[in-house]
Amino acid sequence: MVEAWVVGHVPQAWRDAAARGGRAAIRDVRTRADYEAWYPVFADSGLVVATWPVDYGGLDLTPDQARVAEAVLAPFNLGRLNPLGLSAVAPALFAYGTEEQRLRFLPPLVRNQEKWCQLLSEPGAGSDLASLATSALRDGDAWVLNGQKVWTTWAHISDFALCLTRTDPTVPKRKGLTYFIVDLHAPGVDVRPLRHMGGEVDFNEVFLDDVHVPDEHRIGPVGEGWRVATATLAGERQMVSGAGSGGVDRIGGAGADRLLRRATELGHSDDPLVRQALTALYSEERIRSWTNERVRATVRAGGTPGPAASIGKVHGAALNQRLQLAAAELLGMASTAWPEPWLDAMPYEVRGMLRSRANTIEGGTSEVNKNILGEKVLGLPREPDPWRDLPWEDVPRS
Ligand SMILES: Cc1cc2nc3c(=O)[nH]c(=O)nc-3n(C[C@H](O)[C@H](O)[C@H](O)COP(=O)(O)OP(=O)(O)OC[C@H]3O[C@@H](n4cnc5c(N)ncnc54)[C@H](O)[C@@H]3O)c2cc1C
Repeated sequence: MVEAWVVGHVPQAWRDAAARGGRAAIRDVRTRADYEAWYPVFADSGLVVATWPVDYGGLDLTPDQARVAEAVLAPFNLGRLNPLGLSAVAPALFAYGTEEQRLRFLPPLVRNQEKWCQLLSEPGAGSDLASLATSALRDGDAWVLNGQKVWTTWAHISDFALCLTRTDPTVPKRKGLTYFIVDLHAPGVDVRPLRHMGGEVDFNEVFLDDVHVPDEHRIGPVGEGWRVATATLAGERQMVSGAGSGGVDRIGGAGADRLLRRATELGHSDDPLVRQALTALYSEERIRSWTNERVRATVRAGGTPGPAASIGKVHGAALNQRLQLAAAELLGMASTAWPEPWLDAMPYEVRGMLRSRANTIEGGTSEVNKNILGEKVLGLPREPDPWRDLPWEDVPRS
């Protein structure tokens, strides 16, 4: 059935490219815009989320059936769009959403018709997310949100956001939090793009000024937002590590295949030191991509990533930084200076290298992920937190 669908619906040029040269050849014949335009065809098949119920956009396949389907699709590199929606929003809705919320929000999310982001971090709350200050006050059938979020990836191109707020400042920090779905086009939402040091915009500051959110857009019980957040964060880590449903094998910049091609183009392929460095990076990237493939297969077959997602996050971030640095070093002096206009003329490799600096921060820093691994996987004692049981309003804040 899936093979017949591929023949009937995946464009001939992509199938030919896959047969000729695998994923790399597909990238040569398929632009991002082509893929986005075609994507609703993929979503309508139900194969994007094959184990999900039909009413939410899936096919209700068993995990074993989904694994078989995934193996048939794999050669065509059909990455999933709306990655934060799939990896963070969907788990929250499955675990804590109402049936009405799932029916309303999941199908357009799967079709990439409504894009999603996450309003979690604030200027004073990143690693220690539970200390956040954005408030939500009840007003009849609605809630009124006020506060500032920051580093919100894709807020400038999103329609909705998951938003973690404080509904009770008189209890310890993890107890007074509540999760909401926020319409980013609602009055009072102000999205201000921020630039990465490589020049591009993909994250934002988001100001919430008396934003009204209907109570039916609350996910989970009042005061239980921390539990909902933990349901979403493992999914995000897995996505940011490159193992996510976004289907990306890399997290900013080119991968080892391209690095090998560039080394040849630039005349470095006979240099033994370059060869040694590239071979090591290539091997490590292959190992990582197989590991990621296993995580992806587990998730698409209905499993959850769990704390082990932190392993891929920590390793993938460090590896990508080494890969992108090696790519920039191959350019020699061209990686340090280039003509005006500097932003447009910046070599791709330099852009990738600069972007990769964020890999050890986004989706939870490497240090914090190592703490998670220590506590949840290795069973080490919990990190001390002297403020843990104090009411949030009594905890000192900068
Ligand atoms: C590219 C990018 C995209 C992002 N996208 C989003 C998004 O879409 N939505 C969102 O809500 N947020 C997003 N973030 C924010 C991100 O989650 C935070 O930056 C991150 O959690 C770290 O928080 P912080 O910046 O406040 O740093 P801090 O928490 O202030 O950390 C500063 C330093 O102290 C270390 N540190 C802190 N606590 C500990 C500890 N307990 N043990 C050991 N070391 C510690 C950290 O590792 C870090 O090195 C994004 C960030 C980046 C860079």
